Amino acid sequence: MRLVVLGPPGAGKGTQARRLVERYAVPQLSTGEMLRAAVADGTELGRAVKAIMDRGELVPDEVVNQMVSDRIDREDCPNGFVLDGYPRTVEQAKALTAMLDAKSTKLDAAIELKIDRALLIERMAKRVADTLATGGTVRSDDNPETFARRLEEYGQTSGPLLDYYLRRGELVQIDGMEGMEAVTRNIAKLLGERSSDQDG
Ligand code: AMP
Repeated sequence: MRLVVLGPPGAGKGTQARRLVERYAVPQLSTGEMLRAAVADGTELGRAVKAIMDRGELVPDEVVNQMVSDRIDREDCPNGFVLDGYPRTVEQAKALTAMLDAKSTKLDAAIELKIDRALLIERMAKRVADTLATGGTVRSDDNPETFARRLEEYGQTSGPLLDYYLRRGELVQIDGMEGMEAVTRNIAKLLGERSSDQDG
């Protein structure tokens, strides 16, 4: 199963991606987590992207494309993956299509989690409160100002990206306003319907 999970920051992409990897037994590839790990490790990549991430802006396409290309070449990916946080731009989507073409394969679906802005802001505040309550470290880009910038970024780049997958017939739209369980159930149901359509 090869999936990408799309949606604004706070839509639950990470949560749903984690649930999908369990269901389909494929790895979760989160570009945000890979980049945060690089920053935490102080690698050359991490040093190059830290300021960009702290501003809530996008890391250059060629940087993330190379990172994803290297990652899907690894031994745990031949049966698929769930990509979360990538692609973010049409250029990235095209690069991903080319990577999969080169392996004579394609995406099963691009899942869009649709959700209202007010709920996103509420969820970001809850994520911060939960992290603090459990003694965790709050992400440096989870503050109201940067979060607003990330939302704006999504607003500007997501339209053409969603259109790209719509035109390819790969877009699966899901109501992300429901609870976590219901969202996962709806995704699985729609993916099941798609694969039986393709089989038949
Ligand atoms: P996320 O965890 O997906 O919200 O990503 C956190 C931050 O990492 C973003 O605000 C960007 O700065 C950077 N990032 C993650 N994925 C990408 C991507 N596909 N393209 C560009 N920047 C990314």
